[in-house]
Amino acid sequence: MATTLDIARENANAQTILASAPQVVQPVPQAEEDKPTLIGLNREELAMALAEVGVPEKQRRMRASQLWYWLYVRGVADFSLMTNVAKDLRAKLAVAYTIARPEIVDEQISVDGTRKWLFRFPPRGAGRPVEVETVYIPEEGRGTLCVSSQVGCTLTCTFCHTGTQKLVRNLTAEEILSQILIARDRLGDFPDATTPQGVMVPSEGRLVTNIVMMGMGEPLYNFENVKKALLIASDGDGLALSKRRITLSTSGVVPEIFRTGDEIGCMLAISLHAVRDEDRDILVPINKKWNLEALLDACRNYPGLSNAKRITFEYVMLKDINDSNKDALELVRLLKGIPAKINLIPFNPWPGSQYGCSDWDRIEEFADIVNRAGYASPIRTPRGRDIFAACGQLKSASERMRKKDRDALAS
Ligand code: SF4
Repeated sequence: MATTLDIARENANAQTILASAPQVVQPVPQAEEDKPTLIGLNREELAMALAEVGVPEKQRRMRASQLWYWLYVRGVADFSLMTNVAKDLRAKLAVAYTIARPEIVDEQISVDGTRKWLFRFPPRGAGRPVEVETVYIPEEGRGTLCVSSQVGCTLTCTFCHTGTQKLVRNLTAEEILSQILIARDRLGDFPDATTPQGVMVPSEGRLVTNIVMMGMGEPLYNFENVKKALLIASDGDGLALSKRRITLSTSGVVPEIFRTGDEIGCMLAISLHAVRDEDRDILVPINKKWNLEALLDACRNYPGLSNAKRITFEYVMLKDINDSNKDALELVRLLKGIPAKINLIPFNPWPGSQYGCSDWDRIEEFADIVNRAGYASPIRTPRGRDIFAACGQLKSASERMRKKDRDALAS
């Protein structure tokens, strides 16, 4: 489920903001394309990587824990900084492996402090380099990182810009985790790091407090890599993000919903957007495969579901499409018995989109109906609109440029 962005090339206003904002941080080594990475390996795989460079079996567990600490607690991207690891082992690791970050192709900063990055990952033997977008949304008391799971998407939700970009490939666990690591680099969110002047962040505590798998792609079509990355992100001896603060958003891949709760244990969000199958078949076409009844049944059976662990239902407000009082009442009826929150999202138009955003009065009336029924249903103030970082607006830069070229050729 896409939440976000676009790039500076398309938005002169954003370029102005970018130019005037302080540009950040410590240089980080770029990924070395021909070496395997240690990022995204679980502890057993790390131990095997250590075996490859000659670490004796009885030391591997301890050495793997050291690496884990340096990679995920300290956030280092250079073996030479691992000061409690023997020098000769550091040298061997540096020859055989990389822990470098992906390339930052672009960084845009919204007037509201939202940040959008375009990252480029090396091919590592898997075709061409790929680009993905990641968004950071600072608020009082929390900083939310919207992470991508695929390059492009196979689904074609008609309100979503990402859905117009064909799937290139799934991201690996490394590439999913790297989005978190590099965001923390840029914000100064590792121990001893300093937040660059002018960067908008929560006033105290961690700067990345929440992860939402709502960027480019359908995370449940990349289940194993997403699971691996989220289990590493929530490991208490590493990045230590609480599973209560990690939300996976799906368009409705019903067979994987139970596994999400059972094997990952994170919070769940459903990209709902319509209350009747005939409408949802158009807005979220995966509905033709798994309809509302099947989807809501899977939600009722989500492991750990309770009033303290509610499912979030996302509902984009589309003018004259899904925003009537009748729709609001049907939404309330459908969700009866499911511990739920409803996020009403004013639609963020993108070039060529066929929908308009509901009028504000309409959104408020809709919200009143669901609120009166007992659902906390905040109207999510759009963030990062000026940099195309809002819901459903993400797309990789190269795809945008290709489209521009196609349009130019056609004109
Ligand atoms: S097309 Fe649908 S599933 Fe794919 S990114 Fe957009 S909203 Fe998510």
